[in-house]
Amino acid sequence: MSLSHVIALHGGAGVNPARDYREVEIHLGELVRECEARLAGGASALDTVEHAVAAMEDSGLYVAGRGSAPNDAGEVECDAAIMDGARFQAGGVCAAVGIAQPVRAARAVLEHTPHVLIAGAGARRLAEARGLALVTDSASHYRLPVGVEPEELLRLDAGLSHGTVGAVAMDREGRLAAATSTGGLFGKHAGRVGDTPLTGIGNWADDQLAVSCTGIGEAFIYAGGAREIAGRMAYGGASLDEACHAMLASVARHHGDGGVIAIDRSGAVTMAFNSPGMKRAVAGAGRPPVVAICGSRERA
Ligand code: ASP
Repeated sequence: MSLSHVIALHGGAGVNPARDYREVEIHLGELVRECEARLAGGASALDTVEHAVAAMEDSGLYVAGRGSAPNDAGEVECDAAIMDGARFQAGGVCAAVGIAQPVRAARAVLEHTPHVLIAGAGARRLAEARGLALVTDSASHYRLPVGVEPEELLRLDAGLSHGTVGAVAMDREGRLAAATSTGGLFGKHAGRVGDTPLTGIGNWADDQLAVSCTGIGEAFIYAGGAREIAGRMAYGGASLDEACHAMLASVARHHGDGGVIAIDRSGAVTMAFNSPGMKRAVAGAGRPPVVAICGSRERA
């Protein structure tokens, strides 16, 4: 189905089927409606995906922003990326400490530097210089207790072992954009960076498609992630849906699992996963929003 504008969100592939996700479903439903209205009102795809991801970071409901869990050194390190398919420009931050909304720092990299990815202390310095919100009190900011041993947290909530948030959108002018943000894998080694902030792997947008991935980042890096999907479409003649599933099959061959949300320039949407579930939502002109956590994939 083709749409004049469309937004898809994910809240991560780290789903525990035994957990109650009602709060998440309500949040995703409200957010996807709000983003659809913004697009209908003429907002750009880029501003809309940034807004969506920042809202998910702030909610504390996902393993990104406020919901991030500490690494094995007890520190919260975040990764995020954003890409404007219309301008073919991207920005990202990784292993970033103390930035309240990492996606806004990624946008600052896109808009105000000649770089694509800035790590650690440099990312925080940029955020500070751009006047972005910083985390001054980790203990009260993060929803999960900072400094608790990862094994202890795993016992508290096995459903949060990993997670990421992402958004892909096409606006009324047909421009595509993607944004993705994560607290990374639970109990990860200090300094570990996954697929999320890597433009072309966890996040991608050009004039053909927009993609946001979630899952075991190492496997997505081996599988090629978002650019693998783009390549299968451009050179192999695959449809968006076929390309997403082929990439996920490769993730599985590399002993990982996860999911992907993607939009192509015709407005087709794929929300595919090979994990037990993926928190997800989609809305566009002329169709009611869909929100789901478990179950099978969506095609639109
Ligand atoms: N892809 C993220 C990472 O590996 C985690 C996730 O999506 O759940 O850092």
